[in-house]
Amino acid sequence: MLEITKELLTRTEKVKLPEKLGFGIHYTDHMFEVDYSEKEGWHNAAIRPVSNFSLHPASTFFHYGQALFEGLKVFKQESGNIVMFRAEKHFQRQNNSARRLCMPEMPVETCLEALSELVKVEKDWIPTKEGEALYVRPFMFGTDVALGVHSSTTYKYVILLSPVGAYYAEGFKPVKILVQDDYVRAVRKGLGECKTPGNYAASMIGGEIAHKAGYTQVLWLDAVELKYIEEVGTMNMFVAFNDEVVTPSLTGGILPGVTRMSVLQILKDWGYNVTERQVSIDELTTRYDKGEVVDMFGTGTAAIISSVGELKFKDKVMKINNGETGELAQKLFDFITGVQYGHRPDTFGWLRRVE
Ligand SMILES: *Cc1c(COP(=O)(O)O)cnc(C)c1O
Repeated sequence: MLEITKELLTRTEKVKLPEKLGFGIHYTDHMFEVDYSEKEGWHNAAIRPVSNFSLHPASTFFHYGQALFEGLKVFKQESGNIVMFRAEKHFQRQNNSARRLCMPEMPVETCLEALSELVKVEKDWIPTKEGEALYVRPFMFGTDVALGVHSSTTYKYVILLSPVGAYYAEGFKPVKILVQDDYVRAVRKGLGECKTPGNYAASMIGGEIAHKAGYTQVLWLDAVELKYIEEVGTMNMFVAFNDEVVTPSLTGGILPGVTRMSVLQILKDWGYNVTERQVSIDELTTRYDKGEVVDMFGTGTAAIISSVGELKFKDKVMKINNGETGELAQKLFDFITGVQYGHRPDTFGWLRRVE
């Protein structure tokens, strides 16, 4: 196990959470930081005050983008229990991203330990109102000082914590989504399965186009044929047809979401006919015209479930469920948040206590 040095601030006052939390705006006082080199492996692990990095301008990730991140949540339940939601799945995925990007892996147990230690230090920063949480942002980047293109031999790994407010502060609100077919986000056999900054860089333009057209999100199509629906930038997609609930299969261009995995488990348990398969935009529009699209929603750690109220592809505007929150989307949201906040039993074993 990694030896973690603690350089902690002496707190003279109680932690006071900001009035308006928002998402990813506020940070706790401390972060976890560890370095990697081929010779020493993971070393210099510390929990210390959040501060700026000092990096040489030739550090590899600035130029060649060798970097990855994760995003997960920690909750403080009414009982006072502090729980992480499926943290081991997030750290396994972090290692999958690392392998594809030629970056070092970190044992899942080490990550869990580091996060637990950090959360214990920052436990007063966990907001407790319904919908609020401590958002966890682990990330890693290459730090070799060299402009020659090669895989970095040194890295820094950090865990940053951010108290976040309820995603749906004004109630569960359906989003409007624009289908994008002029640009692609990620290509299969490329970095589509990795949580890496480059995929986000590729997707910004789609976001801007959508915003200008009055839409909040982008639905990306597969990068090879521009035929199959893939995902919504930060969320995986589900479509409830009249006889089947479908989510696009993981063919390599899609990020395998932990929330997606959880929703699949729940739907199977509830006895739904749920399948992972390719869904073409053509099938979606045709079946919409026949009235067979019952509900549509996105899944991701930040919003958990995001109901789709409207979808636009080329000139065709499709209102889903009259632009209202679908019944299935609401049921899933209530179930998952119920487990997270401890209002219902954790029947699937998704929570891990921080103690
Ligand atoms: C993080 C992310 C998701 C959602 O994954 P979760 O594990 O459910 O949070 C979906 N798509 C992309 C591109 C992502 O980066």
